[in-house]
Parts: sequence; structure tokens; C-alpha cells
Amino acid sequence: MLTVLTGGTGGAKLIQGLSLEVDLRDLAIICNTADDLVLYGLHVSPDLDTITYTLAGLADEEKGWGVKGDTFAALESMRKYGWETWFKLGDRDLATHLTRSVLLREGSSLSQATSRIRETLGVKASILPVSDDRIETRIVTPRGEISFQEFFVRDRWSQEVKGVYFAGVERSRPAPGVIEAIQSAAAVIVCPSNPVTSIGPILAVPGVRAALREVERPIVAVSPLIGGTAVSGPAAKLMASMGIEVSACGVARAYADFVDTILIAREDEGLRGRIAELGVEPVATSILMHSAADKRRLAREVLALIGPMC
Ligand code: GDP
Repeated sequence: MLTVLTGGTGGAKLIQGLSLEVDLRDLAIICNTADDLVLYGLHVSPDLDTITYTLAGLADEEKGWGVKGDTFAALESMRKYGWETWFKLGDRDLATHLTRSVLLREGSSLSQATSRIRETLGVKASILPVSDDRIETRIVTPRGEISFQEFFVRDRWSQEVKGVYFAGVERSRPAPGVIEAIQSAAAVIVCPSNPVTSIGPILAVPGVRAALREVERPIVAVSPLIGGTAVSGPAAKLMASMGIEVSACGVARAYADFVDTILIAREDEGLRGRIAELGVEPVATSILMHSAADKRRLAREVLALIGPMC
């Protein structure tokens, strides 16, 4: 079993590459849920859905979210009724959120609802929300606290960030299968996801980080940063707000207690010495994934570092 920790966008790219190289039944994907939101009374899980749609071949890769070719008629009607519509829910995407919300209301856990959705969409990999309990990323700004989606989508991450925390995480428990997937893994991959708001909440769920530290098999991470810049999104800004050095070295330091190897950009070769001092082996390569070929090549390189998964 290959176990993967991921958020949405960056993680989905590497997971798409991995899906071309390994038997999907051998893949356990532990996914961030702290970006989840309740919209029009519906439970929306952006990262779970991005990963599920990616593996189902339904993802809109250009936009990086939602379903390819989706229409927005329901959202347009919501706008006419006077609702805020900055979070773009497509019509087909809406069916996923309706299904999840109905299942949750009927008493299913988020893990059970996630399994039902991925089975319906024909996805063979196991997709595990990190927790069935509600965890919510809160962004602290000079004008008060906002949710992650208000910061990321509504305000296009323009607001100054004074801090980030995960409401509810102390009381949360890992979802069924999460700790087992880490303990039984032949290897663990930490995707090039946002270290603060995607991997951060996963590591903050009590028991997850401790389980990762105990893993004796290889743990390989891929940096989401090239130089001092995130490939996309607000990772650099959020890392700075948390006092984390904005570089692949900062990413390595954030994971140094459990990660063995980190793939960094060739441009960051100069950081190799400082990363090695942390006890993490740096491997410089091309970590940008534009095309399907890039995703597959990077997945192969990660798998080669892991070696045979006996
Ligand atoms: P989110 O939940 O949508 O924020 O998804 P993730 O946390 O999985 O993805 C966001 C991160 O992916 C950002 O920090 C990006 O820098 C990173 N990312 C996006 N595309 C790439 C890529 O092609 N290569 C690498 N190395 N990182 C990427």
C-alpha cells in the first residue's frame, strides 16, 4: 500500500501521475478537510472532490477545480435569489455536494459519504478524509477572522495574514483507516501541497504526526515552492505568516521530523546543504507539472526513490 498525504491542486497533479504508474487499489489517499465549507446548507469538501474528480477523469484541469465542462445554471439562479455566488459550484458538482449532504444528514460519516461518491464515480483508490470531525482553517487578518475559502476564493488571498489556526483540530480524531494506512504503508508520499493549509491540518489531527514519525519505510515529499515562490496559490504568504522560511528548505524543516527525502527544484540546488543538515535528503529535479507527461515523470521519480514496495 502506498499512502499519500494531499490537499487539492498540487496534490491532484502528482496523484494523477501516480495513477498512471501504480495499481490504484494499492493507493490510500489521506486528504485535507479543513478547507471544507457549508454553502446553501450543503457540505462542500473541495480537496476530497478535486482528488476524486481527478481520479475519475472528470476534473477540470484548466481551472484546477470542479467538473470538466460543467454548467452553472443553478448558481445563476441562486444569484437571482440574492445569494452570494463567489464560490463557484457547477451543476454536476452540485450533485456531489447534495449527495454528501444527504448522506451526512442521514447519519453517514464523511468517510462513508466519500466512499460512496468515489465508488459511484468508479475510483478504485481509497480516499480518506483525514478526520470525520469538523476541522476548520481560520485565517486571522487585521480586520478579523475569516474562513479559508473567504480568504482564498472570495478575497483572492489579498488580505494581510496575521496567523492561521485549525478550529476543532484538538478534539478531532483520525478517520477510520487513516492511522492504519500510515502504519501499513510500504511508503508515504507528501504531495506538493500547501504546507500550512493542506498538509498542516492533516499533521495537526492528534495521532497522525506521531504515526508518521514511527514509519520505518521511506517517506518522500515534493516541494510546492520553487525559489521563494509557490507554483500557485497562497502558500508563500501563509508560510511567512507562520514564521516558516519561504523556501524548499522551510518546507523540509516543517516535515523534518518524519520525512526522509524531499524533491526540490533544480533552481534550488543551492539549498541542498541546509536541507541535508536537517536530516532530510534533498533531490533536485524538475518539479513543475504542466502536462500529463510532467506528472507521470515526477511520479516515476518519486517511486524510484521509494524503491520496490515489498
Ligand atoms: P489546495 O487545497 O487547492 O490549496 O491544494 P494543494 O495544497 O494540494 O495545492 C496547492 C499547492 O500546490 C501550492 O502551494 C502550489 O505551489 C503547489 N503546486 C501547484 N502546482 C504545482 C506543480 O506543478 N509542482 C509543484 N511542485 N507544486 C505545485
